Amino acid sequence: MTMAPALPLPPRTVLGALATWTWIDSTPDGLVAFALVTPAAGGPTAEQMQAIAEAADLATPDLPLPGARIRLVLQGQDAVIAVPGSGPALRIPADSGWADFVRRGGTVVVILGAHLLAAGAGRPQVESYIMGALLPRQIWMGKTTLAAEYTAAQLRGEACVCCHRVDGPLVPAGHAYTSTTGAPLGWAVVACPAHAPEES
Ligand SMILES: [Zn+2]
Repeated sequence: MTMAPALPLPPRTVLGALATWTWIDSTPDGLVAFALVTPAAGGPTAEQMQAIAEAADLATPDLPLPGARIRLVLQGQDAVIAVPGSGPALRIPADSGWADFVRRGGTVVVILGAHLLAAGAGRPQVESYIMGALLPRQIWMGKTTLAAEYTAAQLRGEACVCCHRVDGPLVPAGHAYTSTTGAPLGWAVVACPAHAPEES
């Protein structure tokens, strides 16, 4: 198989220097599960965050909200997201309410911020961070759901859930859910070393 082109992503070790927040909010399109990812202290530069956003097909807030080119699976109540063809997966700690909403097929909006937001910032700081980043276009956004299209091999745990790689070692990577019949159906999926979720 061909290798994906190298993207200017931060090295694997930088992933620990990302900070994440999750919450559910009502929008004109109904309830949405949000996940905000920003650099933490010593984390990626704004240029590196932009490279991740571009690899994931995220858009600045002045543009229509695109479908993100990311893979989202759940590990318990954590979300694990990866950009196919690039770096390792990112584990986003959530809570059971967020995970249940997503497991039932709820829309997830992933927001990538260019600049530092102190880890542990509360909801008011998160909201002012986002509001302050809208006009200068210092955030990128995209939507996805768990019911992304997976191949049969991915659902059977025989191919990486991100890049379809089938030659091992493939390691457990949480659960993907398909919910075309209403009730979510969970599949134990696997990932190649490049897309295995980091332990944070
Ligand atoms: Zn992979």
